[in-house]
Amino acid sequence: MKDVEEKIMPGVTHWQHPRFHAYFPSGNSYPSLLADMLSDAIGCIGFSWAASPSCTELETIVLDWLGKAIGLPEKFLMYPSTKATVPNDIDINFEDYKTPASQTQSLGGGVIQSSASECIFVCMLSARAQAISKLKKIHPFVDEGVLLSKLMAYCSKEAHSCVEKAAMMAFVRLKILEPDDKNSLRGATLRQVMQQDETMGYIPFFVSTTLGTTSCCSFDNLAEIGPVAKEFDVWLHVDGAYAGSSFICPEFRPFMNGIEYADSFNVNVNKWMLTAFDSSCLWVADRYKLTSALVVDPLYLQHGHEGAIDYRHWGIPLSRRFRSLKLWFVIRTYGLSGLQKYIRRHCELAKLFEAKVRRDPRFEISNDVRLGLVCFRLKGDGNIVTTDQNNRKLLEDINASGRLHMVPASVNDKYVIRFCVTAQNANENDIDIAWKIIQEFASTIVAESIK
Ligand code: PLP
Repeated sequence: MKDVEEKIMPGVTHWQHPRFHAYFPSGNSYPSLLADMLSDAIGCIGFSWAASPSCTELETIVLDWLGKAIGLPEKFLMYPSTKATVPNDIDINFEDYKTPASQTQSLGGGVIQSSASECIFVCMLSARAQAISKLKKIHPFVDEGVLLSKLMAYCSKEAHSCVEKAAMMAFVRLKILEPDDKNSLRGATLRQVMQQDETMGYIPFFVSTTLGTTSCCSFDNLAEIGPVAKEFDVWLHVDGAYAGSSFICPEFRPFMNGIEYADSFNVNVNKWMLTAFDSSCLWVADRYKLTSALVVDPLYLQHGHEGAIDYRHWGIPLSRRFRSLKLWFVIRTYGLSGLQKYIRRHCELAKLFEAKVRRDPRFEISNDVRLGLVCFRLKGDGNIVTTDQNNRKLLEDINASGRLHMVPASVNDKYVIRFCVTAQNANENDIDIAWKIIQEFASTIVAESIK
């Protein structure tokens, strides 16, 4: 441990520190930590049901609980008819889940992946496989490579860069669309572009939308986009990597209006649900469509348990850790009400920070503060170049001081500073301290720019 302190810790960026306000939260908690240790101690590799039945079944059950807690439509659950809800106590009835998954009426279900990037990539691959197989029926003699070159995916300019990366890896075209002035992708924009593309001979097959964008926590208009996606018969993915956790609070669910149109949805509980990396939850409305692009079945991986869930078919890696343990520990320890309290607290603190920024005439707020992220900037004199430079200098000076850590973003083509409430036990005092540090550095910058 002496070596850890001396050689490792000086080079660690302290994501759990109360002065850390960069990116989004890196979820963590004592129960999550213990569960990960237990998972490592058990050391199973749950690629198939037979390879570790508990590892597989707990994942299915916990994802069903969480899906219900978030308010996802029933089509995303594997056991929609069970009475079980997310417990506020530890009274869990596993009997509710005794029916083999293959005998439930539902086609849906959830899985834990390593990252949102992976969730989006596998959904894109599955959508691609669906599209190609449909086209093959219409054009049986056309080479698959030719069909592939016609496929077009869509996302907003505000979507995370992992969508672009997924398209690169899947070798498909991606059109990046302009959102409206609130950074929300609108249905009419999507329809117009898809119509034009069809006229040009392209084939729309996949749309990735975002609820809670990385730059400014804006929300694509799913209620408008959903019907367009259905009209063009494309796979609709919804990325709720950060904001998805907030939907356990009913008051935030209006942000996901239109979710019923989605084919898949992901949320990183390792961001905002007290659960450590890696645990990115993905739900699909039709698990057979998902696995259609991902199944290979050598003899050495087969087992005699027909119809059991084999999560190796739901993602890229074969081997997988017992990740659902930590989500189970977290849900059992905090209960739904404890998790709601944690999310609401972060949102209240973001509002508190926003109010402080608004009271200082030197600053402006650059986003609609709906959850735990506030984007702000020094107003300056209206000269965009000078103002961007001042804000860049402000952030660089603050970060260089080591007293507070934030990162920038570009919102409506302006350089803004992102302040995210991230610490597990963040409180008013942390917000006060952060704001005082920002004001102190701002005073120096403003004084220098007047000189
Ligand atoms: N989507 C959104 C909205 C994000 O904010 C992020 C990361 O912050 C990602 C996707 C990528 O997440 P991951 O690191 O799990 O791939």
